[in-house]
Amino acid sequence: MEYAIKISPDGEGYIGRECPQCEKYFKIKFGTGLPGEVPCHCPYCNYTGPQSEFWTKQQIKYAQSIALHELSSQLLSQLKRMERKPDPHAMLSIGITVKGSPTPIAYYSEETLEHRATCSACTLEYAIYGAFGYCPDCGTHNSLQILRDNFRIVTTMLTLADTSSSDIAKKLTENALEDAVASFDGFGRELCRKHDPKISFQNLSGANDRISRLFGRGFPSCIGQGEWSFIQVQFQNRHLLAHTMGVIDEDYIRKTGGKGGDLGRSIMITKDEVVKSIAVLEQMADFLFSIVP
Ligand SMILES: [Zn+2]
Ligand SMILES: [Zn+2]
Repeated sequence: MEYAIKISPDGEGYIGRECPQCEKYFKIKFGTGLPGEVPCHCPYCNYTGPQSEFWTKQQIKYAQSIALHELSSQLLSQLKRMERKPDPHAMLSIGITVKGSPTPIAYYSEETLEHRATCSACTLEYAIYGAFGYCPDCGTHNSLQILRDNFRIVTTMLTLADTSSSDIAKKLTENALEDAVASFDGFGRELCRKHDPKISFQNLSGANDRISRLFGRGFPSCIGQGEWSFIQVQFQNRHLLAHTMGVIDEDYIRKTGGKGGDLGRSIMITKDEVVKSIAVLEQMADFLFSIVP
């Protein structure tokens, strides 16, 4: 006996999926993404297999309970037909009463997930834990897309600075630099995680040594020495904002080749510097994405 059971999407159109390999949960919107039934990629471990392997335990339980419910209802109604009352005129008569109710249905609801994404390569809409992952349809990793989205937000912050009072504008510009660096760091770590779990892109020259050793090429080969020196100073500026409230210390002067007379003064971050930093970081991100296997 076979039953076809429909698994309905949640209120927002997503259907839950569970990886048969790592057992982690995610959701996709069927009808978006690649046409036809394509194999499913786990966004977390990139295990790839047919869609039928990705039902969640709750969906399977629900489907089984529907089948059992149907079967037990049919059985009960057949038995009900055999019910009869005892014959009052007979010497000895036995009545049959059928009691019982069909097996209950194991209803479930899909979980809420932190990050929703639309794949820039195939337009699939999906939801995952955390932020980074592979697209369940086309398998493209979303790290570069997330970085670009973050850079767009940072750029918007900078345009807000144009219409703000000088105090707010200063804070927005500084935050924009800090956010741009943090986004690049998150992107780089995620991309290199399986090759070097300890790599940090907040320390740019350290990260450059590591990627040169791992992949045979470093950032200066892609952006040139001038931009490379520029972006390193910007990262040192960010370091000061995060650790000394922007006050120049000896470490900063040594690392940037700055003047001793600047010791104890506050650094000034300009909007143009942040805009240029984002442009340079975008080039570096594309480069990194292309060399990490
Ligand atoms: Zn998985
Ligand atoms: Zn995709």
